[in-house]
Amino acid sequence: MKIVRAEAFLVDLEPEVVRFDAIQQFTKQETIFVQIETDNGLTGTGYSYTIGTGGRAIVSLLREDLLHRLIGEDARQVEGLWSKLFWATHGTVVGAITSLALTAVDTALWDLRCKDAGQPLWLLAGGYRERVPLYDTEGGWLNMDIDVIVAEAKKSVNRGWPGVKVKVGKPNPMEDLARLTAVRDAIGPDIDLMVDANQSFTHAEAKRRAHLFEPLNLYWFEEPMPAEDMSGHVELARSTSIPVAVGESIYSLSHFREYLASGACSIVQVDVARIGGITPWLKTAHLAESFNVKVAPHFLMELHVSLAAAIPNALYVEHIPQLGRLITHGMEITGGYAIAPSDPGIGIAWDFAAIDNLRVA
Ligand SMILES: [Mg+2]
Repeated sequence: MKIVRAEAFLVDLEPEVVRFDAIQQFTKQETIFVQIETDNGLTGTGYSYTIGTGGRAIVSLLREDLLHRLIGEDARQVEGLWSKLFWATHGTVVGAITSLALTAVDTALWDLRCKDAGQPLWLLAGGYRERVPLYDTEGGWLNMDIDVIVAEAKKSVNRGWPGVKVKVGKPNPMEDLARLTAVRDAIGPDIDLMVDANQSFTHAEAKRRAHLFEPLNLYWFEEPMPAEDMSGHVELARSTSIPVAVGESIYSLSHFREYLASGACSIVQVDVARIGGITPWLKTAHLAESFNVKVAPHFLMELHVSLAAAIPNALYVEHIPQLGRLITHGMEITGGYAIAPSDPGIGIAWDFAAIDNLRVA
């Protein structure tokens, strides 16, 4: 299965709702695509994303330095090709731009691997179960007023979804507490309630807010501090009963190993785009399993549903719909579960005509 063509391009997507967290706004989804064609007539489509900056640098890295290295190679050697590209860019790894570029290639190769085998991703990557519990993030952004987040949380519960997440990081901690208390009161004691600070706190502030939030029986405290402050996470994890969740800002398998080995996190939120693709995503998930830690991947629900369904230690898929304009149909949700697609490939129903129309580079 020799690679005969490899192409990269970019599509900018407006956010489907206005999304602010404690440190940033989701201004647009720069969606980086890679298409790889093989000599047996198959085409694999892969992608990655940013939330507003760097997309053009990733496309440029792919076009100038990476994709030509794939021509003539056997597309089935997914590990070999990942390593080849990683080492070819060794002066710029580990880093976000390179990881996001590798992901666009790796997910295209997995799409080819699944199509060649006639299997859906969730089966080929492990095949643990067809459905994974879903929690909602889309109704809990920091810019939403308290009555909105309460109404959205109730809506999620009425749909039968077992968990909702609320962003924290208001300047006054009592405002965070009031918002969380209102949501907890509205959803009752049995629904999982998560909070996410998007790395915005100092260690002292994270500890203070964790203490303040303790009576609300939170399911996890996500990204309390900057990801590079691992010792801060170790100390926080020791000082609170709330499970600490990290991973969306971690870009290498070995960084996850450091977190897990030092007890700095209790839930791994590895993001397939930022870790470098499906190949390292699966390694990270299995690494977490060896530490008896669960995985709740960040964002990209249309792809993560298949990966979460592949592994035994998935906890949740995160509900943030963003691909609506590029797909013919969205992820299937039944009751409180996201259902892994059964078609051969990575399971995303791309609308290639729409994608072509929205190309910006
Ligand atoms: Mg987050």
